[in-house]
Amino acid sequence: MIDIRKELPEIFDDFADGRKNAFLKVRDVKENGNPLIGVFCTFFPQELALAIGGTSVSLCSTSDETISEAEKDLPRNLCPLIKSSYGFAITDKCPFFYFSDLIVGETTCDGKKKMYEYLGETKNVHVMELPNTQSEEGLVLWEKEIHKMINILEEQFGRKITKEKLEEAIKIKNAERSAVKDFYGIMKEEEIPVTGLELWHVLTGITFEFNKQNIPEQLKELKEKIYSENKKITGRPRILITGCPIGAATEKVIEAVENNGGIVVGYENCGGAKAIDRNVEEGTDDPVRAIAEKYIQIGCACMSPNPNRIELLNRLIDEYKVDGVIDMHLQACQPFQVESLKIKRFANNDKNIPYISVETDYSQSDVGQLNTRIAAFIEML
Ligand code: SF4
Ligand code: SF4
Repeated sequence: MIDIRKELPEIFDDFADGRKNAFLKVRDVKENGNPLIGVFCTFFPQELALAIGGTSVSLCSTSDETISEAEKDLPRNLCPLIKSSYGFAITDKCPFFYFSDLIVGETTCDGKKKMYEYLGETKNVHVMELPNTQSEEGLVLWEKEIHKMINILEEQFGRKITKEKLEEAIKIKNAERSAVKDFYGIMKEEEIPVTGLELWHVLTGITFEFNKQNIPEQLKELKEKIYSENKKITGRPRILITGCPIGAATEKVIEAVENNGGIVVGYENCGGAKAIDRNVEEGTDDPVRAIAEKYIQIGCACMSPNPNRIELLNRLIDEYKVDGVIDMHLQACQPFQVESLKIKRFANNDKNIPYISVETDYSQSDVGQLNTRIAAFIEML
């Protein structure tokens, strides 16, 4: 067995530095006169940003650097993702906020919705009304919201989103999603060629590649390089992470798994499979309807009920031969915390595998406690 705690090999550098390099790339987008749309959530249909000739960038912040600033305006017992994102916006510490022509939020959880009201005082913010059910009525509303979003983009940027442009954008995003899915499929192997942390850095880094057409080729090349290194990780309990979005500060959860004998073979949360599992149907008469149908099916805990999260977990647990599920909750995230009982019942009763939930924030003060709990969990697998 190899030591998986080594530094990331060079082949991952470009991807691990994706966010840092993106600060420079974002300047190029602006210098070319193209729109940059800052987004907070997986529900934003990225096809719209491509169809207007621009690109979108994630504004979800993953560090505690600006939380104390945010807490001057927002309650302390609020999800760190919301506080951190707001903090970066009001302190202008994030170039993505600075360069965004328009910031788009969705009515997902209550904390985010209310935060957008304050954000709108200093930034150009549009909030899409996301229904909280995946019913036919919900789909009709969501489709209308996408049409409204298209009108806003056309008006603000003085460009037209034609059917042809939407169809082209759908093809580009479908190719990207399929390539990412194919890439993380390497974790299905018995002899796993990368660590879960390395995989995570690629998945995060790739979201900051603004030339979406390039992604399939880049991932294909990386996959070939990975297999040529002939690294084989075996004999470790295989862990699936689900729950709230993970990012820089919460990589401590992945590290706690992999420093204590486990290996993360999959991520169901945003940034992993949740966002890209389904494609938009191509070649339909109504591409807006097709986009609405794909995005409303995302299995986020802000949907009630939320059967698609279970359906995806079911497939991932089987395909990736998962030995245990870790449900990561950010502090004060009610949707995922309340839903955790369902996930626990599903893992324990339906799939007959162990489940643990861990609550954390963006500080490093709980690293010791996380290691203790996760080490004990892995030991029993
Ligand atoms: S977890 Fe839900 S609300 Fe948060 S980014 Fe993902 S889809 Fe959006
Ligand atoms: S992690 Fe939970 S509380 Fe935080 S923004 Fe996402 S859904 Fe809302």
